[in-house]
Amino acid sequence: MQDLIDKLVKKNIPFSEKGKVANYIPELDKANKNSLGIYITTLDGKNYHSGDYKTKFTIQSISKIVSLMLAILDNGEKYVFSKVGMEPTGDPFNSIRKLETSNTKKPYNPMINAGAIAIASMIKGKDARDKFQRLLDFFKKVSEDDTLDVNYKIYCGESETGNRNRAMGYFLKSEGIIEGNVEEALDVYFKQCSIEVTTETLAKIGLFLARNGKTSSGEQLITPRIAVIVKTLMITCGMYDSSGEIAVKVGVPSKSGVGGGILSVVPGRMGIGIYGPSLDSKGNSIAGINLLEDLSEQLNLSIF
Ligand code: GLN
Repeated sequence: MQDLIDKLVKKNIPFSEKGKVANYIPELDKANKNSLGIYITTLDGKNYHSGDYKTKFTIQSISKIVSLMLAILDNGEKYVFSKVGMEPTGDPFNSIRKLETSNTKKPYNPMINAGAIAIASMIKGKDARDKFQRLLDFFKKVSEDDTLDVNYKIYCGESETGNRNRAMGYFLKSEGIIEGNVEEALDVYFKQCSIEVTTETLAKIGLFLARNGKTSSGEQLITPRIAVIVKTLMITCGMYDSSGEIAVKVGVPSKSGVGGGILSVVPGRMGIGIYGPSLDSKGNSIAGINLLEDLSEQLNLSIF
């Protein structure tokens, strides 16, 4: 396994040249375009890593899977999916257009920005600070990493540049999808995107889902049903408008973020975290996807 991942990381680094590092915040633009790293943690307790696996980066959209778990725990499946759908959009992650044209005005799914902002509004707490603190504490439990925290420079950048997200938040408020305070929901969303992680953090969250919601000490933090919902939405919607193609080529529930991370779950086998900040036109790590494709082929990972 170690030889294999060393070989595959080396092989896929050159793909980084074809992509672009996210630059909507100056701080994100500082990432080294040619970085590529992977961390794999298996159900039988083995860990493997290669390349730039130690680099810190912001979790961005991958946070959407963890906030979804907590929103369902807080509100129940029925309420959550009365406000947000379960269908892929085929549109970019930050697209607005289907919000108004769909009959229900519901965001299509929790993996696009509109859906994730609605989900953030459902996290319980007395104010934005308390809501985010509950979410961060939940993140720490799921990833079994007590040190997780927000990168405040990125958070400020997210908030300063987040006008498209704000527009979606206010639209959702006007349609009654967001019931509480819209600025609080946006603040939770900007902060959750700015949580700093490594490939190890992502692999551990993947492992948690591979175990159907159990921590390494055997605590069932979410019901297996919630784990199934999250994994299913990851495979149908988790890689934005590349989700179908990646389901065919890789075949495991995955979620990407514009910070360059990809989190994959191989049910009953392993969690995988990948970092490669150079992104393709859809916002997915370009070298990361190619690495994942090779790995899936070599280890026969597809669930299909
Ligand atoms: N913070 C980013 C945004 O809201 C997250 C999007 C992403 O990772 N795709 O635009």
